[in-house]
Amino acid sequence: MKLQVLGCAGGIGGQEQFTTCFLLDNDILIDAGSGLTKLTIDQLCEIDHVFLTHSHLDHIFGLALLVDSVLGKRTTPITVHASEEVISTLNTHLFNWKIWPDFSVIPSPGNGILRWEILPKMETRELNGRFIQSHPVSHTVDGVAYWVHNQNSGFLFTGDLSSTPGLWSHFSTESRLKHVFIDCSFTNSEITIALASKHYCPRTLLADVSDMPKATQFFVTHLKPGQENLIMDELKANSDFQFTALTSGLQFDY
Ligand SMILES: [Zn+2]
Ligand SMILES: [Zn+2]
Repeated sequence: MKLQVLGCAGGIGGQEQFTTCFLLDNDILIDAGSGLTKLTIDQLCEIDHVFLTHSHLDHIFGLALLVDSVLGKRTTPITVHASEEVISTLNTHLFNWKIWPDFSVIPSPGNGILRWEILPKMETRELNGRFIQSHPVSHTVDGVAYWVHNQNSGFLFTGDLSSTPGLWSHFSTESRLKHVFIDCSFTNSEITIALASKHYCPRTLLADVSDMPKATQFFVTHLKPGQENLIMDELKANSDFQFTALTSGLQFDY
């Protein structure tokens, strides 16, 4: 199982200029932010499944362009897995014929290029030996983390979140967990906006993960442009964990 980071920034214009989008092997996307724009048309046509953590624009806008770009170039639909609430939000506010057409009925009803599949919390989808499980997290909208593994090893991608103690108590004993890709959007001095927007800052992140094994490898995502170095310094200065800033272009094998 191969993971490619196409984008993982908390905005545009920073050191890492693409928003959240991970490519698993060649056929599964996790979130569809602006990192998706790096793929060629042939690579876009290979994507069979998209898993969405939540409905915020920086994680989903590429989906709208993806289905349009591959229309007529593949014979099977792209299946988009998300919570019932996320699917409802995207249908109401994005694929509503005003912002973008409803691609679940294009080119024709019953034969849409976009196929929705509800993934309830804590359920797992298996796709050719790759297991993807949704875990609820605390964010301003309905959100999930994904635990992705091949039965031997894997990674946890938190999506956007603030304090979610249940997630960490669950994964503190998961021996197959190789990497944690974790949101830390703000600096400690921005704790008020971090709490209001339900993202971590270093202080709230470290309080949440304190019981994780000390060998856990954390890769930090969603750093706000211009604040990358300060956020990373605050994380490293206050804990014994290994923290690395995630950047687009990195690849991981499992
Ligand atoms: Zn968000
Ligand atoms: Zn986000």
